[in-house]
Amino acid sequence: MSLTLADARIVTPEGAHDGWLTIEDGRITHVGRGSAPRAGHSLGGRHVVPGFVDLHNHGGAGGSFPTGDHDGARAAVALHERHGTTTMVASLVTGAIDELTTAAASLAELCDEGLFAGLHFEGPYIAAARCGAHNPALLREPSPGEFARLVKAGRGHVRMLTLAPELPGALDTIRAAAAEGVIAALGHTSATYEQTLAGIEAGATVATHLYNAMVPLGHRDPGPIAALLQDERVTVELINDGVHVHPAMLRLAYDVAGPARTALVTDAMAATGMGDGDYVLGSMRVNVAGGVARLAEGGSIAGSTLTMDVAFRRAVQEVGLSLPEAVEIASRTPARVLGIADRVGSIAVGKSADLVVLTDELEVAGVMRRGAWVRPAEPA
Ligand SMILES: [Zn+2]
Repeated sequence: MSLTLADARIVTPEGAHDGWLTIEDGRITHVGRGSAPRAGHSLGGRHVVPGFVDLHNHGGAGGSFPTGDHDGARAAVALHERHGTTTMVASLVTGAIDELTTAAASLAELCDEGLFAGLHFEGPYIAAARCGAHNPALLREPSPGEFARLVKAGRGHVRMLTLAPELPGALDTIRAAAAEGVIAALGHTSATYEQTLAGIEAGATVATHLYNAMVPLGHRDPGPIAALLQDERVTVELINDGVHVHPAMLRLAYDVAGPARTALVTDAMAATGMGDGDYVLGSMRVNVAGGVARLAEGGSIAGSTLTMDVAFRRAVQEVGLSLPEAVEIASRTPARVLGIADRVGSIAVGKSADLVVLTDELEVAGVMRRGAWVRPAEPA
């Protein structure tokens, strides 16, 4: 069965143009310019961008991935899908090793189903001084052997490990991750500039929410941020909710790292899509007020209530990026980080039909995943 979407403003890797596309068996089979050769579903001139790819997400709609609970995870994925995320990684937080292996084994079943593109261990190998909303009592020193247990529990679905490179055993663990095909991400770290470079040299290729939970930029003491931004091997995650990072600092990161090394992430937690109130993130109690999640004790920012459509819209409206630039950092670059850019992250023939229809104000008007509407495009 083939579907034609007509009268669309399509954002492809080459730029934006008015045109149409056809979809068959979940894939894009044609991308054309101008009027469609046959009648189709008119999008009334609205934008069509590739589905968003979120590398760092802990849940939503009351569901929390660190629990490993399937119903909660499905509710969270459904929420993020309605906001345009068609590919996402399930992020865990620091927990006891047995809890982490149990949660990973449970979530691996949802990876088998295609619900997640992989699993992300954020911690437990992170710095106490920069642990944010992670339980400081459960932090550990990295070891390749223990990390291998975590990877094994995920049955081939573990895609990322966030750790602090200055900890004893970190560089060996980064090498072990890289050898396993797991992305080593540096974050929640007290590392110096030099220690960060050593982590990159060992094989780390991602910065976990750049700026947050790391030593700030200093002109005499550049710290991790300068090293992560400047190294061509590293892609930097940014939480573009206006709370975690000022738009000017997002612009600075983008200008240094460029669209091919910048990835928007949500770092969303269970409260996303819900009201203010009390929640948990892993073993920590979190209070959400005005949409900002903070630890009940100490007040550290504890993840976000961000969705990718908002991050995308802010990239254009608050940061000043063009639509193709925003598409690059919300879809194509994170897909490339995950090694799946041949299938998702852009609108091109042969790619999965993962699409977001956006109004002129960049509000979501429709979402398609693998060729099926998860939120049908409303009549224009
Ligand atoms: Zn996180």
